[in-house]
Amino acid sequence: MRKFLLLIFTIFVITVFCHTEKATAETLNMLVTAYCPCEKCCGESSDGRTSKNDDAYICDGVAADPKAIPYRTKLKIPGAGIKEVDDTGGAMRQSWRKKGIYHIDLRFSNHQDALNWGRQQLDVEILK
Ligand SMILES: [Zn+2]
Repeated sequence: MRKFLLLIFTIFVITVFCHTEKATAETLNMLVTAYCPCEKCCGESSDGRTSKNDDAYICDGVAADPKAIPYRTKLKIPGAGIKEVDDTGGAMRQSWRKKGIYHIDLRFSNHQDALNWGRQQLDVEILK
């Protein structure tokens, strides 16, 4: 009987522990800018592909410095939903390497939407 109670107690502790771990997903304050795959945003070399070779017009992802936030990390961005890191850019790398700030660039499929987003400082949740 004692062993049984101990087992129940262990399961309870594990359950509580796992639950707590989920609740403490990492949230970081980030500079969130926006872009689209057009020439104005990406220059003349723009080929409509992300640096991970995703179709930049179909997949809506974000650009980041992969040294700060690795590729394929899923981010929960207030007002934008869940996005995956699938691209990078000079501005994001500069922000991280020179100023140590997390900077992500949200990709929209058209230029006007990117302009409307502007620059926002947001608490972004990193989903594990
Ligand atoms: Zn654009």
